[in-house]
Parts: sequence; C-alpha cells; structure tokens
Amino acid sequence: MPSGGPEIEQLIQLLARLPGLGPRSARRAVLHLIKKKEQLMLPLSAALDRAVVAVKSCEVCGNIDTVSPCSICSDPRRGDSGILIVVEDVADLWALERASPGQVRYHVLGGVLSPLDGVGPDDLNLEMLISRAPDYSEIVLAMNATVDGQTTAHYITDRLGPGTKVTRLAHGVPIGGELDYLDEGTLSQALRARTQI
Ligand code: ZN
Repeated sequence: MPSGGPEIEQLIQLLARLPGLGPRSARRAVLHLIKKKEQLMLPLSAALDRAVVAVKSCEVCGNIDTVSPCSICSDPRRGDSGILIVVEDVADLWALERASPGQVRYHVLGGVLSPLDGVGPDDLNLEMLISRAPDYSEIVLAMNATVDGQTTAHYITDRLGPGTKVTRLAHGVPIGGELDYLDEGTLSQALRARTQI
C-alpha cells in the first residue's frame, strides 16, 4: 500500500520507471534518499536541475554532452585514426570509450531497424552517417549481436556501398568465458571467426 504522502509516492513511481529499478527498489531508494536528506537528496535534486539545463545531444554524432558538437567531435586529434564507430545508443558509445579504443570518433544511430516495433530507416540517425562516412577510412559497425542489430548492420553496409571499408566487432568467446557455459550460436561464431596466434 502507498504510504508517506503524494509527493513521496510520485517520487517512487518516477524512480520505478528507470531501467533496472522496479517499484520495490524505487521504494528502497526513496527511503534511503529521505534518510540521507542533506548528504544525498538535496545534492541529487540540485544535480538533476543542473543536468536538465546543461544536457545537449551532439548535432554531429548524437552523443550526450553539455556542449554541441560534443567533446569527442570537437577534439581535433580524434579524427587521426580515420575510424568511425557506429553504435546503437549513447550507452554503447560510453561503454566503448571505457575500453580506450584510441583516437576514434563515433556515430549514434539512436536504435536499430525493427519491423516488429515499427522502426524504419527514417527513424534512425542514418542520413548523417551516410554524409559523414566519406571523411573516414574505416566504418566499424558496433551493433549489438541481436537479429535487429545485425539486420541494421547489413542495411548500413548496403547503403554505404562497395567503396567504403566496413568492419564489425568480432563475435565469440568472452574474456574469462568458459566454453562449456556458452550457447551453440556463440561457439559456432567463435569457431568461424578464429584467428592465428
Ligand atoms: Zn559528437
């Protein structure tokens, strides 16, 4: 049963809509915030206010930053490798950045083609990618290893045409992975994509 008044109930309902949080975790988070009002709730509220004003979507690549073009697009050394990595979402861009990929630039599609969900080429940030591609020597398609991700990768490869060098991430055995625990699809792909040592 709801308790604690409408302001608190609304806070719980809003937090419960965040990815990874359900109503139960949201309730625990809100109780924690209330207990730590000075140390956590007030700074969080102020940080949210500042972020709402400051956050911008990069007009070039689709990254989220407080400036547009974003700090990656406006870094002149970033173009040195000639590599443009195409990702589905900003979270994927940030994940790749944590892997320190070097002087690369990115392009965020904002999703993948999905006929079932009614997502077509016009719903993605594709035309900008087609116009950026000639400035790079290699386009890395870092889509997720899902059916929709791979369909999107094929579509982009067709659109870019034969004159563009297009690569994709290797699929296979994860670092620290044990063969016996992997599914057949991952294992057969790892076998096909084997490399000489
Ligand atoms: Zn950018």
